[in-house]
Amino acid sequence: MKRLRERERARRRSLLRLMAVTILDHPLASDLLTALRDKDTAPPEFRQRARRLGYLLVAAALSDMATHQREVATPLETATGTVLQRPVVAVAVLRAGLGLLESVLALVPDAAIGFAGVQRDEKTAEPMEYYTKFPTLDHAKVLILEPMLATGGSLSWAVDKVKENGARDITAVCVVAAPEGVAFVEENHPSVRIVAASLDRELTPRFYIAPGLGDMGDRLFGTI
Ligand code: URA
Repeated sequence: MKRLRERERARRRSLLRLMAVTILDHPLASDLLTALRDKDTAPPEFRQRARRLGYLLVAAALSDMATHQREVATPLETATGTVLQRPVVAVAVLRAGLGLLESVLALVPDAAIGFAGVQRDEKTAEPMEYYTKFPTLDHAKVLILEPMLATGGSLSWAVDKVKENGARDITAVCVVAAPEGVAFVEENHPSVRIVAASLDRELTPRFYIAPGLGDMGDRLFGTI
């Protein structure tokens, strides 16, 4: 059993090396994710924990952002600092992506926001579009907020959409990713970076992530 677990960990590590995936390795992220996984965590606490985990995910997603130097006058002297060089745009994939939106706005208050409304067909798991609205995406660092990267169909669809609208530098911000979804996105959009709090074991036959945390939209908003 122990050897099996070690082999599984080694398999995942080599998978991650091959892909542009960052999995948060932080006790705080793990603590927050554990509360999200707990089926007894009610929506008010779930939303609060998701927002806090979002801070860590967004900070990691922006860690490769270009900056330029700026001089500021401190109360004592002049100091050279750095500021973000390009605008940030967050695109929330509805509806679960809304759970990470406040985290982006808390860290980058002048980020512009877009929305990508996609519903997954419960039988085929294919993405079905119902609404999209984007700000200017040219030259921006685009964060696609897709908390549950399951089959990868919705994320891949959202990446197609933002690319059609001029996005070039795209990072997906996920709470939990399934290996199948990561592989699908990697195959269709190899330049997209993925940041997640966990790479889970697998997709179930009904396209849920296992062990996962259930339906993120339902957990956030108390729907059934
Ligand atoms: N979407 C969710 O909200 N949860 C899953 O497990 C898969 C897709």
